[in-house]
Amino acid sequence: MTTTHSDVTSDLQPALVVQGVRKTFEAELAPVRALRGVDLTVERGSFIALMGPSGCGKSTLLNLIAGLEEVDEGTINVAGESMSDGTEDTHALIRRKHIGIVFQFFNLLEGMSVLENVALPAIIAGKNRKSAESRARDLLDLLGIADKASEMPGVLSGGQRQRLAIARALANEPTLLLADEPTGALDSVGGQEVIELLSRLHAQGQTIILVTHDASVAKAADTVLRMRDGRILGDSDVVTNETVTAIGTL
Ligand code: ADP
Ligand code: MG
Repeated sequence: MTTTHSDVTSDLQPALVVQGVRKTFEAELAPVRALRGVDLTVERGSFIALMGPSGCGKSTLLNLIAGLEEVDEGTINVAGESMSDGTEDTHALIRRKHIGIVFQFFNLLEGMSVLENVALPAIIAGKNRKSAESRARDLLDLLGIADKASEMPGVLSGGQRQRLAIARALANEPTLLLADEPTGALDSVGGQEVIELLSRLHAQGQTIILVTHDASVAKAADTVLRMRDGRILGDSDVVTNETVTAIGTL
């Protein structure tokens, strides 16, 4: 990968600062208060696992961080740039510059080759096709699917499909990689492939926020945060990886 992390110095902004974020969805019966005051700082190079019951607001939080939804209240700064002030257009620009996102069900473009899938975000961001494809080849190589470059995504295994989605998310060298239950649709072998890959990216300096239901998946992270009812639980409630390991042995 051509990503360098030599620019990681203490005087740079954290990868992410979320302060006092609230988000309510209008629903037919009653409004759903999906986020009720979230504060979160993610330093560069850290690997955070976010756990919590279904409906507690995990995906909403990732979508707000990515600028795919707008906050009602509070601020979100990604690498010092605001994902809460400004327009949807500026948020889209910040997303292309700083965010890579992968979802449970891959969201691949099935009519494009593996290589084209990975090259597309860089082309959208204004790179020429040649350099975008060159970067895409490097990523596929790094992720162990270089031999599939000219295939269509449909021929890949589940684990390979998610690795492809991760390669695409890394196309623009994001400050922050967001992964929303990336192993949720995979069997244990495919899930393991994805976790090993995320661990390797983390070791190379990639900042990652991983949403998962699975404590064994969360173990790959260096910090586990718990969410409940639209809030991240306080320090005293935070489950460390030591605790996860201990619970796993009970
Ligand atoms: P999680 O990812 O933790 O399972 P979500 O962030 O998807 O939870 O959802 C949090 C709450 O917000 C849930 O009650 C969900 O039904 C609701 N919600 C999420 N998105 C929408 C939406 N677009 N419209 C209405 N309600 C939503
Ligand atoms: Mg979710």
